[in-house]
Amino acid sequence: MRQLMVLGDRRLEWREVAAPKLRKSTDALVRPVALSICDADAAYLKGAFPSRDAFCFGHEFVADVIETRDDVTAFSRGDRVVVSFLVACGTCDRCRRGFPAACTTVPPKSAYGFGIFGDWGGAGCDVVHVPYADTMMIKLPEGVSAVDAASVGDNLSDAFRCVAEGLLEEPGAPVLVVAGGGAPSISLYAAALAHVLGSEQVDFIDSDPVRLAIAESVGANAIEMRKPPSRHGSYPVTVDASGHPSGEWLSAALRSTAPYGRCTSCGAYHGAASLPVGTMYTQGVRFTIGWANIQALMPKVLDLLAQRKVPVQRIHTVAQWDEAIEALANPPAKLVLTREAIA
Ligand SMILES: [Zn+2]
Ligand SMILES: [Zn+2]
Repeated sequence: MRQLMVLGDRRLEWREVAAPKLRKSTDALVRPVALSICDADAAYLKGAFPSRDAFCFGHEFVADVIETRDDVTAFSRGDRVVVSFLVACGTCDRCRRGFPAACTTVPPKSAYGFGIFGDWGGAGCDVVHVPYADTMMIKLPEGVSAVDAASVGDNLSDAFRCVAEGLLEEPGAPVLVVAGGGAPSISLYAAALAHVLGSEQVDFIDSDPVRLAIAESVGANAIEMRKPPSRHGSYPVTVDASGHPSGEWLSAALRSTAPYGRCTSCGAYHGAASLPVGTMYTQGVRFTIGWANIQALMPKVLDLLAQRKVPVQRIHTVAQWDEAIEALANPPAKLVLTREAIA
């Protein structure tokens, strides 16, 4: 089969490789039909993280089920599904407590398409092996397109967790999204979802005019800012999507969080940065960072898509599957590849 690879020098290349096979009774094989480019992928291709050996690209996808083994009871051939990017068993203690991102059955941080978190392959190919298929996959609801749902297995669900809990706790609360480009699609999804979930005011800070315009189009107030403010108001819900290694934008989000409000960081961080722990202490900031526990979030996000509430079309740029390499040369805020005709 054909597999999109990222080489050691970050160049992309299609390669002919052997297709995976079913191994265990809980396995499925699926054929990706839509693949979206995760913010972490785009950042890697731009050189944001240390380079790795060649690996199979892609981990946010919608696929058609090709084949299942006997213990897969929820799916059969032909079902169209969203697959979680993170690989987890669904039955260990951590998975049952809602933390599949820390599943103890598989090696730490098992996921598709990174090359450093286990040999699970990538989704930019013709056949993907899905272990624990009954818990890793969810059927696409009637009327939701593969392109619209392509990011549910990662970034869109990540954005949901950034705002949903805070808005459930305090309906209508103002939300601040500190964007900045480290997690461009998550920042825009978070702004759109905050608006959809009833926030009375969604403020979106960024330096990029294109993202600012998209943010406005999904219901946010776009605020152009090139340097991190010390603080920008006081919001019950704040989101750091900057991914900036200095931690300065994250610190701005933390200082802008209202007393006992929630600040969630969805950027990928490496190494150390100083944080305003004094402010966090006196304000009682409830801070969340780390991989989102995707499996539990996917049904809620798909529900919103089925109700046609989330304007993902304003965030997505869609290209043909075979044009992946050309489209990735200059990636937009969110690129979705499809094998189907573009609507
Ligand atoms: Zn990702
Ligand atoms: Zn588990």
